[in-house]
Formats: sequence, C-alpha cells, structure tokens
Amino acid sequence: MPPVTADKVMEKLVSLAKRRGFVFQSSEIYGGLGSVWDYGPLGVELKKNIKERWWRSMVHERDDIEGLDAAILMHPKVWEASGHVAGFTDPLVDCKQCKNRFRADDPRIKGTPGQPDAQCPVCGSKGTLTAPRQFNLMFKTFMGPVEEQAAVIYMRPETAQGIYVNYLNVLQSSRQKIPFGIAQVGKAFRNEITPGNFIFRTREFEQMEMQFFVKPGSETEWFEFWRGERMKWVEGLGIRSAKLRWHQHDKNELAHYAKDAYDIQYEFPFGWQEFEGIHNRTDFDLSNHQKHAGKKLDYLDPKTSERFIPYVVETSAGADRTTLVVLCDAYTEEEVRAEEGAEGGGDQRVVLKLKPSLAPLKAAVFPLVNKDGMPELAHRIHDDLRRHFNVFYDDGGSIGRRYRRQDEAGTPFGITIDGQSTQDQTVTVRDRDTLKQDRVATAKLVEYLTQKLAG
Ligand code: ATP
Repeated sequence: MPPVTADKVMEKLVSLAKRRGFVFQSSEIYGGLGSVWDYGPLGVELKKNIKERWWRSMVHERDDIEGLDAAILMHPKVWEASGHVAGFTDPLVDCKQCKNRFRADDPRIKGTPGQPDAQCPVCGSKGTLTAPRQFNLMFKTFMGPVEEQAAVIYMRPETAQGIYVNYLNVLQSSRQKIPFGIAQVGKAFRNEITPGNFIFRTREFEQMEMQFFVKPGSETEWFEFWRGERMKWVEGLGIRSAKLRWHQHDKNELAHYAKDAYDIQYEFPFGWQEFEGIHNRTDFDLSNHQKHAGKKLDYLDPKTSERFIPYVVETSAGADRTTLVVLCDAYTEEEVRAEEGAEGGGDQRVVLKLKPSLAPLKAAVFPLVNKDGMPELAHRIHDDLRRHFNVFYDDGGSIGRRYRRQDEAGTPFGITIDGQSTQDQTVTVRDRDTLKQDRVATAKLVEYLTQKLAG
C-alpha cells in the first residue's frame, strides 16, 4: 500500500472516528459548532479508560496525592489573582479584506501584521492585516438574572485554580504533610482564536492536572521527579517512544505563572506538538491568592516550625489531546498477508492497534452462523463475559466483515463460536494484531482475557 500523506491521515482518522462512534462534531445537524466535539459510544469509553488510568497512577497508587473535583464556576476574583484576567491573552490579528482572524504568531503570516508588507495567509491580500490586539481567552457568562458587569463570571480556563483555592481544605482534612499533591480531572474552556486539528485544540476540553506542593528550594528536584514519572506514564499508554520528545519552553514561551516548563510532545500527522506540560509555578498562585483573598495560605512545618508558602510543581495533561495521541499512534493501514488465509490474503485493513487495556471494547462475540445452537451458546458467553469486561455481540454479516469492524474499533479479541464449539465447549479467540487464533475452553475465557488485558 502506498504511504499516506499527513493531511490524509487526519482526514481518515476523523472519518473513522465518526463511522465507528468515537467522536462526532457538536450540534452536527445544525452545521456544527466551531471546534467543539462530542464523544460517541466508543470514544467515551476510550477517554474514560485514559482518565481512569491517570487517576489510578496519580491518586490511588500514591500515598502523597489526594483527589479533588472542584466546580467549573469560581469566584471572579480567582481569575484576577491568578493573572488570567490581565494576562491570559493571545495577540489577535484581523484581515480587513476576508474577515478571517489569526493569532499574530501564526507561522503562515508573511511580514509584520499592521504593516503594509504583511500578507493574509488565507486571501493573500497585502496590507490588510490589523496590528495585533490582545484577546482574552476566557469565556464570560453572568451569574444571576442581571447581565451587568458586576455579575460577570468566567468558565475556568484551567482546573488548577480549583486546586489552589482548596489547598488548605485538602491539607487539613486529609492530614497530609508537605510535600503532597492534589489531582483533578475536569472540563476547561478557552475561547481559542485558531482552534483546529480535530480534538487537538478545542474550545471546551478536559484536563488531568496535578499540583504538587513542596518546600521552597526543593522544587527543582521535584520538577525532575515529575518529569520522569509523567514520561513513564505516557509510555505506558503504548505510545511509540520515537514519536515522543521533550520541549523546554524558552523565555518567550513561558506562561505568566511559570519559572520553568517542559512539554511532552508527540509527532502528530500535522507535526510535533505538546499534549502535556510540566510546570514550575513557584509560589505565584498561592501568594497571589493569599494577597487577593486576604487569607493566610502559608504552611507550618511541624518538624522545623518554619512557615512558608509552598512552591508548586504542576503536571498538566489534556484528556482529549492524549486521546488524540493514542488514536493517531494506534491508527494503522496494512495489507493482510496471504498466509492469513481465512482473513482473505491481499486484503487491506484499517486497524486501531490500541493497547488492549485502553480499548473501548475488550472483545467481540460472534456466532459463526445464526443456527445450530451457535447463537444460544454465543449469548451465554457474552452474558458471562460482560460481567467482567466491556464486550460486544455481533451476528451481522460475514465473519470477515465483523472482524474488520472490530479492527476499526480497536477491539483486541474476536471470539467466534463455531460448529465445534457446541460439541466441545471451546471457541476461537482471534488476536487483532497478529490475526492468530487460539482455541480456548469457554470456562477459561475470563482467565485468558484477564491475562491478555493486564498492563
Ligand atoms: P497550547 O500552547 O497548545 O495552547 P498551552 O501551553 O496553553 O497549550 P496548557 O495551558 O499548558 O496548554 O494546558 C495543559 C494541557 O491542556 C495541554 O498540554 C493540552 O493537552 C491541554 N489543552 C490546552 N488547551 C487546549 C485546547 N484548546 N484544546 C484541547 N486541549 C487543550
């Protein structure tokens, strides 16, 4: 099969995502809403598996991290204290000719926006781009019935602030001691100027964030520790390591709160891009909240009796971007070799080679034909397996077609009930990636799958 070009890969992935029920465009019947996406039956499972894996490793498997689920709506002063009202902006440029909008740092713009030489990357006009003006990325809404300035509140643009304002509550109720962390998964909203690339940059998205509170002076050590841990976690998703790399922010890239920051980047079909950041946020957030709220947020070290405002090392991942990384990395087009005869030699297939533990469906159960006792046995097996795993029953179409549908869904195992099964209570289990078939006793299926799905 000839190699596929980058934009074609994204096009194919978006189309597979829709066809198989991973991701749909929001409000599609009304023409869609710009850069907002909905997760379908398989997508919600995949994203949930990624979030649960994150929660397990960041909260359940650690003694020094607590979970939190803070509200999306927060006191508007939070965003003044955090610097988002003043500083969470992107430079926006308009084309007076074609009315398109761009970030001033859009690499497609030639020349300096606002100057006669600047060229619009869409309509090609010269001198029509306005000088950049700062555009705040926070969505505003109103609390209560009156739409006035005093009632303005914001949809949170990051989950982190919900953690900072609760840091003392968690510290006191959990009886943790510094160093310790608070983890949270939740929605965030950014009115991005140039969203795009499917679920890569959207206006509503989910973050998986952890803030680790440490003694000032120990933050560099913890920063390195968390960099190591997060890369291990990402590799544990089954992502090819050649497609992963670190990117350290230079001075111009650093966010208003950060002293040092590294991104984990993935080589998407559209290039190397960040999907997780590790940030040294110093005592910026807690100090500012202490000042603006007029509440003491310092920590009394019980051993040394020292008082200090903790420094924060943040790990901030996007659940949707991580889902896109997993999908891109799993997407494979390949030829089925002749020796895999039963599957049709020379045939082409699209397969999502998802790590089995992340796959939305763990197995699909197929009666070979809809007679001779096969459907009855297949239903019994399906009912038994669904108590343990998310499994799917499919009796529609040829067995080859059923395998192909599950290949596209990334289902790691196909269980076929054939004539022999009704005689000796064994079934074939087809491996999605190798196409090899094992004959397994029905009584051993749960054990067989449990072992294969571990990790
Ligand atoms: P970018 O430079 O791509 O806009 P950022 O540096 O602003 O990202 P952070 O503020 O560090 O991103 O957010 C942490 C993570 O949240 C990102 O690594 C990404 O996975 C996710 N994220 C941020 N903005 C978006 C968005 N608009 N859509 C989807 N995910 C996002």
